[in-house]
Amino acid sequence: MGRDPDCVFCKIAAGEVPSFMLYEDDATLAFMDINPANEGHALVIPKEHATDLYTVSDEALARTTLTARKVAGAVTKTLNPDGLNLVQCNGPAAGQSVMHFHVHVLPRVNDDCLSMNWGLKLGDIDAIGRLAERIRQWI
Ligand code: 5GP
Ligand code: ZN
Repeated sequence: MGRDPDCVFCKIAAGEVPSFMLYEDDATLAFMDINPANEGHALVIPKEHATDLYTVSDEALARTTLTARKVAGAVTKTLNPDGLNLVQCNGPAAGQSVMHFHVHVLPRVNDDCLSMNWGLKLGDIDAIGRLAERIRQWI
């Protein structure tokens, strides 16, 4: 499985950087975003490194999408948000800050006025950990 030694998501996939894991299978991983745009913000990645939508393999893309749906369902069962977006960013202008293909599972609140490039603000790590535990119970 291809990896980039400098990539933080490859390090999370290898267990070298800690994360609040939600789901793992042979091809994909889901974990909480540490800078949540809204409560319950999670990320889904293929384990194999690819930069973006244009370079990710068909197989990894398909598997990541299936995992994103699974995680979106669990987040929805946990938080019952007003809505939920799957967001996928390609290139800095589109808000991509980590160059390892990923899908955001992003719960929405009525009138949260979230913009496409929402900016990074560190969340409450203890609260994220507790929420991860609740979401995992629905997966
Ligand atoms: P992008 O901006 O590339 O679409 O999304 C990258 C996401 O990765 C951001 O929402 C950011 O908060 C998240 N992120 C960056 N570094 C880490 C990390 O070390 N751990 C976790 N859990 N999330 C990270
Ligand atoms: Zn990577």
